[in-house]
Amino acid sequence: MPLTHTVGSITVTALVDGAGPFFQPRVEAFPDATAEQWREADRRDPDTVTPDRRWWLPFRAFALRTGDGPVTLVDAGIGPADALAASWAPVPGRLPAELAAAGIDPADVRTVVLTHLHTDHIGWAGPLFSNADHLVQRAELAALELFHPELPARLLGPLRAAGQLRVVDGDTTLTPGVRVLSTPGHTPGHQSVLVDDGDDRLLVTGDLLVHTLQLIDPTLAYAHEEDPATAATSRTNLLNTLAPVTLATPHLGTPFTPHPVPAPPAHPGPR
Ligand SMILES: [Zn+2]
Repeated sequence: MPLTHTVGSITVTALVDGAGPFFQPRVEAFPDATAEQWREADRRDPDTVTPDRRWWLPFRAFALRTGDGPVTLVDAGIGPADALAASWAPVPGRLPAELAAAGIDPADVRTVVLTHLHTDHIGWAGPLFSNADHLVQRAELAALELFHPELPARLLGPLRAAGQLRVVDGDTTLTPGVRVLSTPGHTPGHQSVLVDDGDDRLLVTGDLLVHTLQLIDPTLAYAHEEDPATAATSRTNLLNTLAPVTLATPHLGTPFTPHPVPAPPAHPGPR
């Protein structure tokens, strides 16, 4: 059964499309991390390191829903066997089965927020969600030719032709309590999704952070951020502004992570 977290009336469901090892040694992905930071990350997030010290990462999407109302899906996973992510990610993904296990009919998905257009976040976008607008930041489309020249033909053209591409500029309210926030850096038009009911907050981060190292030190760069300085600023500002917040992340070992980590309960020590 997929894991869920509730904020007010909104149920957030974690959907695991796949999991696999990263394609390069993990120290190359975070060249500035210290040995002590790696130790702390492995202690907090033991499921993302293999016995031979490789980075093991899940690929998740998240569904937001109130009752049996319309569903907002944040990200669309690695996709089927012939998806663009096949060159590096463990396709085929199992998002359709995960949705079924969560009791979600793809026809009830009315909005797909694409946090960014990297191939591990767009795999199932398009025909599977034929009733959904697909929401992308204008800055992401403008920068597209820099990193994925094949996407206009594969994904965006068909979405546009079907009237399913919704282009937004910056922070945008989707429904009461649900907003997309512009969080550039990982890519030029990266966006995250904030669920806020006044008392309680959850941020579906996308790749605003990709590893627990970047919670231990939000200024730590990830080698595949297109603009590391801007990414660090987005990450630091948002984590500071929102804390305390639950982070719903695609690539950490567990789908829901409190930030900051709550202090351990005090217990009487030996006398
Ligand atoms: Zn990713």
